[in-house]
Parts: sequence; structure tokens; C-alpha cells
Amino acid sequence: MLAELAEDESVEDVERSDPLQEARKSPTPKEHSPVKKTVAKPREKAKKVAPNIDLKDVAPVPTPEPPPVPDAQDEPDTEESDVSKAQEDGDPAAVPEPQELTTPEPEDKEPERAKNLALLGSEVLPGTSTRLGWSAGIQIAGLSQPTPVLVVNGANAGPTLCLTSTIHGDELNGIEIIRQTMYDLDPETLSGAVVGIPIVNLPGFQQGSRYLPDRRDLNRHFPGSKNGSLADRIANSLFEKVIQYCDMLVDIHTGSLKRTNLPQLRADMNNPAVAEFTRGFDRMAVVHSTGSPGMLRTAAVNAGIRAVTLEAGESHRIQEHQIDAGVNSLASLMEKQKMISRMFVWGDPEPVYYDSAWVRANHGGILFSKVELGAKVSEGEILGYIADPITNAQHPIASSSDGRIIGMAVDQVVMAGFAAYHIGTKAKVSGE
Ligand SMILES: [Zn+2]
Repeated sequence: MLAELAEDESVEDVERSDPLQEARKSPTPKEHSPVKKTVAKPREKAKKVAPNIDLKDVAPVPTPEPPPVPDAQDEPDTEESDVSKAQEDGDPAAVPEPQELTTPEPEDKEPERAKNLALLGSEVLPGTSTRLGWSAGIQIAGLSQPTPVLVVNGANAGPTLCLTSTIHGDELNGIEIIRQTMYDLDPETLSGAVVGIPIVNLPGFQQGSRYLPDRRDLNRHFPGSKNGSLADRIANSLFEKVIQYCDMLVDIHTGSLKRTNLPQLRADMNNPAVAEFTRGFDRMAVVHSTGSPGMLRTAAVNAGIRAVTLEAGESHRIQEHQIDAGVNSLASLMEKQKMISRMFVWGDPEPVYYDSAWVRANHGGILFSKVELGAKVSEGEILGYIADPITNAQHPIASSSDGRIIGMAVDQVVMAGFAAYHIGTKAKVSGE
């Protein structure tokens, strides 16, 4: 089934079911009343103080988003107003100023006390951590399963770092990277907030599929739209409810289709803020890529959020070495951003690969690699062989250039044209 889904994009005909959606309002099925633009948006309002949960403890079931609150009908659409509302709840730690989305560079002063973090209908108090739930509102009532969102709001002010994983439902290493990263945080000493969504594409994850139930690639639909396809709506919901509140975003992925990636960042190095951001990641090669339209990191950067993709390993697997690299690098990032203070030993700067190219198999057969992930290779060097099981021919695959193997296929049966080795080239030393 998975193989059938791959690359199958011929589903555009379902878009034809859309024209009935004339009114620009929520797509919830119950709203079949004729066009009436005054219908209150079922937008969550921050009313409830999130329970302080020690993330190291074994979990209760995540808190679902509270249903729309009837008395919130005249609220303006801006979620900034949520913060001051916490005052009504008698919350002593609430600060009446609007939430700052861009945090100034931390200075060496007395740490400033953090504010409440208003997210997904809850107020997360400074110095606490909790589990929330995000729902895209696309399911039949009662069938919706909230997507868990972990939040650690530090006691001290600072930026909000968001971590997302498993936008492609079969990419698993990031789930564990986020768990280890977040469960290791102490809210009392953290400056800023960390918001983690370990499994963004819950339906895909449950089916072991990269895609959404409509066979679309969610990571081509950001920032999405309210009236678009299923993928557009899910993307829009995630972006509106969570991503737009991030100052920084690390979206964690793996290679696809039995290919593995060296732990690496994909980043638009033409963007100075993003390029500077990449320098906070310890021991991470950087592959320059402007990104495709619809990618979460592209949409986030367009929204003024410093965002990168972190690639680690291959899909369908939990790989300890790759996970360790990701966890280490996120710790270094938080240290660099002055969110945590930890004795951190930095490795040598990794190069930035401003260019990269795939070397493809020219024959069908069984691929056997001679090189390892991360190997430095020269032009013409034999990277592996394709063995034809019928003719017994051995077809060598040679490197197209000098560079480094930043991604490669695992040994498998391939056909001609299969992209086998990803070679990063034009290396420069970062940190200039
Ligand atoms: Zn992916």
C-alpha cells in the first residue's frame, strides 16, 4: 500500500467538492446554515490554566483542547488578547502586556520573569510544563483525536522554540529526539519556552505512511488555507494555532524511500537570520536549500520565524546514533540562544554545503554500497555497485564530484534512475 501512495498526486478531482463553501468560515460539518458571515469562529480562547505536569512522570492522557467557549463570541481574532485574560482567573503570575513574539537578544542582567504562554486554549504559567492537544477540526464529531503538544514554559523570559516531527508519518527519529530534549528541561531554570509536537501527522503515523489520508504530502501545504484541501486545512490549523507563536522552529525529518541522511540541517543560507541561526547547532552539517513552496520551514521563514529542517537517518526506524546527534544539537541550540546554561563542549564547525546533487543508478539490480554515510569522496570514486541477479553483471556507480556523502540509499533492489547517493559539494567552513 505504501508504494502505491508514493508520488500519486492525481487526486485533484476531489477539489471539486469545494464550491459549496462560499462563506469564509469554519469548515465544521455542522455549519450547514446558509451563508452568514457573523457566525462566531470556534476559535479557542485561553481560559484555562494548564496543569503543571512534570514531563518526567509517566503521563496521564493529554488534555484535549477545550471546546469553544460560548461567552467568547465577541472576542477579537488576535490571540494576543488572551494573555491579559488570565488576569480574570486570578492568576498571580500573569502579566497584562501583550505577548512578545520576538524576543530581544538576551542580555547579561537579572533574568526577566517569563509571561504566561497562551496556547491552544490554555495558559501555561511560567516555570511549568504541560501537555496540550491540537485538533485540526477535520474529523467527524467524536472521532477527533487531539495531537499531543508538549510545552515547557520557563520561569525566565526568552524566545519560544518550536520542535516538530513526523509531518511525514513514517519518519520516527524526531519523535524520540523531541522526547529526550523536552523531558530533560527544567522549567525553573529555562529561559523562554519550548513547544514540541512529536507526531504532527498522527493519521499517517498510525498507518506507517508518509502521507495524509488524502494521499497528500502535508509538507507541501504550509501555511495552508481554511477552505482548501484536507492537507491545506490541517496545515493552516497547525500554523495558526501553534507555529505562528514560535520565534524559532526546528522541523525534524528523515530520508525517505529507504534512504538515510547524515544528521544535517536544511536551511536557506541566503537568509541572514536563518544562516546565523544554523550556527547554534553543534556538529550539524548544513545543506543550503531555499526549500520548496509549501514546506513548513519555508512558510515559517516567510512568517519571520527562524526555521530549519533537521534531517536525521532514515524513515521507519529508531536510530540511536542519529537521535543522539539531534538531541545534542538541540541542546547546543538552546544554550546558544541562552535558554539553558549547561556545560557544553562544542565540536569543530561543520561545513556548509552550498550545493548538492544526487548520483543515480544507471542499471536495475541490487545496490551494494562501498562507502558509508558521511564519507568524503572524490570525483570518479566508486561508491557502490549494482549487481544484476540474472546476468551477474556488476555495474559500478561513480561519484560525480568531490564532496561528502550527506545522504544515501540503503542496500536494496533498485531500478535505473534511482537516486542512490546525495553528495554535498562546494564546502565552506561556517562561522566566518
Ligand atoms: Zn520528511
